[in-house]
Amino acid sequence: MSADANCIFCKIVAGQIPSKKVFEDEDLFAFHDIAPWAPVHFLIIPKLHIPSMAQVGLEHAPLLGKIMALAPRLALEQGCRPYPEGGFRIVTNTGAEGGQEVHHLHVHVMGGPRPWLRG
Ligand code: AMP
Repeated sequence: MSADANCIFCKIVAGQIPSKKVFEDEDLFAFHDIAPWAPVHFLIIPKLHIPSMAQVGLEHAPLLGKIMALAPRLALEQGCRPYPEGGFRIVTNTGAEGGQEVHHLHVHVMGGPRPWLRG
């Protein structure tokens, strides 16, 4: 499961589909959501094609830890106000009943002044 040729987020990582990049390193890629719910709304994804949280095991703990540890830094860089007045919301939809539309694991990071469009 390194990359899935039919996956839109794998294509974004590969540069085959344009995105507004927020961050990239050897393991992770972050980019602005195309349909933002909030003034700040970006996605952090592993470059590795993992379809969803349902496929995550203990072997992925370092990767997921890295995503979670990166989120606060990127949130501030992207304009979220500092905690506790500001802050951000982290969401990972999983499966049809979890509201997942794109089947490449991703963490939504949303923030900024309310009201938001959704969420
Ligand atoms: P989810 O429902 O959690 O699977 O959310 C998928 C998210 O991906 C949605 O918020 C979409 O707006 C976003 N999205 C889909 N295609 C793109 C794209 N090409 N660039 C940026 N965000 C996208």
